[in-house]
Amino acid sequence: MTDSAAVASSRAPGGAELIDGKAMAAAIRGELRETVERLAENGTRPGLAVALVGEDPASAVYVGGKIKACKEIGIRSIEARLPAETTTAQLLALIDEWNADDAVDGILVQLPLPKGIDTQAVVERIAPDKDVDGFGADNLGRLAQGKPRLVACTPWGVMEMLKRWGKPHGWSVAGKRAVVIGRSITVGRPMALLLLGADATVTICHSRTPDLAGAVRQAEIVVAAAGQRHLVKGDWIAEGAVVIDVGIHRGDDGKLTGDVEFGPASARARAISPVPGGVGPMTIAMLMANTVSACQGRRGTGV
Ligand code: NAP
Repeated sequence: MTDSAAVASSRAPGGAELIDGKAMAAAIRGELRETVERLAENGTRPGLAVALVGEDPASAVYVGGKIKACKEIGIRSIEARLPAETTTAQLLALIDEWNADDAVDGILVQLPLPKGIDTQAVVERIAPDKDVDGFGADNLGRLAQGKPRLVACTPWGVMEMLKRWGKPHGWSVAGKRAVVIGRSITVGRPMALLLLGADATVTICHSRTPDLAGAVRQAEIVVAAAGQRHLVKGDWIAEGAVVIDVGIHRGDDGKLTGDVEFGPASARARAISPVPGGVGPMTIAMLMANTVSACQGRRGTGV
């Protein structure tokens, strides 16, 4: 994947530059479409298998977005919608089938799974070279070793946002003080490892961090992934910091907001990502990128 497509910058209401994840994701999907066309000319079409278990409406929306992106790019999608009563053994059997299917390059089981299913067993059953969510021990371990292969889509999307925004400004992550709020396996932990790999000095904060405000005030890069609406106050943000908001919260009015007080923060930040239109679309774009690179890696095609 190249980062050639420049994305025009616009401003948040407070004055900070907007890090437009929606536009960046569209550019990445365009790059991937070209790669997939080249693969198809050589007789290869990447395939993504997605399992959705149960009736969680938010999960159904996320899966719908992923299938739509596959169609747009030319990736073949295989979808399994399973009832909430599905057992761990049944889900493992489906993963075994997909692991053995050469036309399946990526396997994604939408989380969270219904209570009663052993999530850890399911995540670890996915073949590491098809683990396009990057949640398995093999891929997470490689990232911790500084030799990433398939990286979790949300934190990788954040890194791409920082890279694509920073490049035309002569700005990079290297040497910056970064604060990551959240230490989940899916977002905070891999996020911190990626920032570390890009030579930031990284502080990881969580629910037991005594002075979160003080930590954020020191940061030149803030990645908020706590899952707490408006946890990060505008006046915590250092002048000129770059802020990425991973949180997603749907209000009673149906509107989406993030973990950061967007308006006040954008009066102090140099650049900030919005919710919606920030990390969300980038997460899906990076899933597509992982599927294409899993295909290239597995089938030995470098196009
Ligand atoms: P999670 O598994 O619930 O983890 C949340 C993390 O935040 C935990 O490490 C927790 O600390 C920490 N935390 C919670 N409250 C805190 C507080 N008051 N101060 C400091 N740290 C606090 O959530 P997740 O899956 O990582 O997701 C985080 C957010 O990102 C959610 O809003 C989720 O919807 C969103 N998300 C968005 C995307 C996207 O595509 N845009 C993708 C994934 C997730 P402890 O470890 O101490 O409990």
